[in-house]
Amino acid sequence: MSGVEQIDEFWAPRTCFLPPIPELEAAVDLLNDAANAILAGDRERARTRLREANMPVVHAFAARIMGPWDVFIHRRRQIERPTELTKVPNRKPDQSVETAVFARDGWRCRYCGMRVVLPNVRKVLMNTFPDVVCWSGKDKDRHAVFYALSAVADHVVPHTLGGDSGVDNLVTTCQCCNYGKGDRLLAEVGLIDPRTRPPVVDTWDGLGRLLLAPKS
Ligand SMILES: [Zn+2]
Repeated sequence: MSGVEQIDEFWAPRTCFLPPIPELEAAVDLLNDAANAILAGDRERARTRLREANMPVVHAFAARIMGPWDVFIHRRRQIERPTELTKVPNRKPDQSVETAVFARDGWRCRYCGMRVVLPNVRKVLMNTFPDVVCWSGKDKDRHAVFYALSAVADHVVPHTLGGDSGVDNLVTTCQCCNYGKGDRLLAEVGLIDPRTRPPVVDTWDGLGRLLLAPKS
């Protein structure tokens, strides 16, 4: 392979930073079953599933993207950035906008396609199962699924580069893809615009049903 071909391959358009591993799906399935168990009043099954979902391999996958910079994962090329920016005041979208974006996207990361979990679900589960749904300021002490797959509304055109906080510039992302992209343009990290692919909407709800359930 020539050097030019190698460079072309390196910069081939991609949908996400690392292809999701099967254990990510398995961990979300466990979380889903934990939610079903909670709603059925079976706390012990829920506790077991939450513990099983906290897989070291999932944590390690997420840490590759959210850890130190790796040229093969994060890439990064210099392109001309817009110079005349009209910065939109509010970076954080309104709650109603964020909710609408998550629902439009079927509670899935628009980059890697993984099912994501609403951030408030972790808080609810931490209150109920503090010994299992661990969280702290240190990444290594975070429950793997919430560390990797808590939902974020990502600005496709970064807010720092003039991107607004409306639904057309926002997509649902997992923590990994959001962290990997940061405040960069899609072209800088070699990502295909996720808005060119239709969202996948099915029965997945981001575990929002746990937020609707009466407190027990
Ligand atoms: Zn993702």
